[in-house]
Order: sequence, then C-alpha cells, then structure tokens
Amino acid sequence: MNFTVAIDGPAGSGKSTIAKIVCKELGFTHIDTGAMYRAVGLFALNKGVDICNEEKINAILDDIEIKYVEGKIYLNGKDVSGMIRTPEVSNAASRVSSYKLVREKLVYLQQKASENGMYILDGRDIGYKVLPNANLKVFLTASIDCRAERRFKELPNANLEEIKEQIKIRDYNDSTRKESPLKQADDAILVDTTEMTIEQVSEKIISLIKERMC
Ligand code: C5P
Repeated sequence: MNFTVAIDGPAGSGKSTIAKIVCKELGFTHIDTGAMYRAVGLFALNKGVDICNEEKINAILDDIEIKYVEGKIYLNGKDVSGMIRTPEVSNAASRVSSYKLVREKLVYLQQKASENGMYILDGRDIGYKVLPNANLKVFLTASIDCRAERRFKELPNANLEEIKEQIKIRDYNDSTRKESPLKQADDAILVDTTEMTIEQVSEKIISLIKERMC
C-alpha cells in the first residue's frame, strides 16, 4: 500500500518526535528531511567551506552522498546522527537550505525515497513541494517559548534565552527565504501543539491517518 504523510512546521514544533511515534505505531517509515539539510551543513563546516557562499556550496554538492535509513543519517557512508544537532549545524543547515541546488538535490532524494510504501516525511516544504499529493498534510506549530523549552530539554547544557534567539532567527530565515520557504500547504491541517502532550498530538495524527485510510 502507498500512503504518504507530510508534516511541516517550524523548529521545535515536535515534527520529528511525533513522526517517529506515529511511524512506530502504524508501521510507517520516517524520513527526517531536516537531518538531510543538517548533513549538508555539517559537511560544509567540516570542509571549512563558507556556508554563506552559495557558489562554493554548489561546488561541493557532488561530493556529498546522503542517506536516511532507519532513523539514522549517513553522510558519505558514515553515521553522523550524533553530530548534527548542535546550534552551529542548525545554523549551517538553515543557511545552506536556502540555496536552490541544495534543495533540488535533497527534494529529489526525498521524493525517490518515498515513492513506494507508507512514509511520513517531516520538514518545511513537504506538503507543497516534496509531496504535493500526500494523503495527509499536517502543519504543526507551537509558541516560541514552548518550542525553545523543548529544545532546551534536548540540550540541557545550552542557554534557554540563546536557544530562543536562535529559533527566532531560524524561523525568520526559513519563512522569508526565496526558495521553498516554511509554509503551510493550503490543504494542510493546522495543529497547535503548545498546550498538547506528545501523546495527544500523536493520537490526533494517528486518528487522522486512520480516517484517510478508510
Ligand atoms: O527540522 P530541522 O530543524 O532539523 O531542520 C534544520 C533546517 O533545515 C531548518 O532550519 C531548515 O532551514 C532546513 N529544512 C528545510 N526544508 C526541510 C527541512 C529542513 O529547509 N524540508
């Protein structure tokens, strides 16, 4: 059976956490597209390539092979899942994801990877760009304070106010860029998770999927 779910939303809205739970519960495969942009950012940082220079980033794209398999992100064959969540890589991902050729490469990979089967893809442009015909589209959101708190729990050594500022900058960059900005698809269902538990959000999405499957 082919069935695809698009989950979009800003940083810290719970996309990946929820996608993982729903996938486990319903036997779907999860593709965290943000992890792919993070891997490109990590590669550029490791190679010392200026992330603000689009031409230089374009020039290294052919040297990058990315795979997302069973919750792990592989960069040129190496599992880099443990290295992509730092604020530095978040910033690099947000920067390189604004470049047309980077997006073309990753959107192609994401579409190919989700061609046959049951998939949940989470990101910023899934509903209107990567999977415009997805069977279900959800746009998750939450207040900035709530999203910063969630990230803080994942990175307890960081500073909460700094995390909040970084999220604000990323929100701004992601939603104002020219190439595929963060945007809710017209036919996506908006879910504000500020006052919801992870279980409540997961249950809501599971019931939406079950409705659409009937
Ligand atoms: O989802 P996550 O916060 O891990 O994504 C990291 C960055 O990758 C985002 O800030 C965004 O700039 C970029 N991204 C994107 N399109 C996607 C997924 C992520 O531009 N589909």
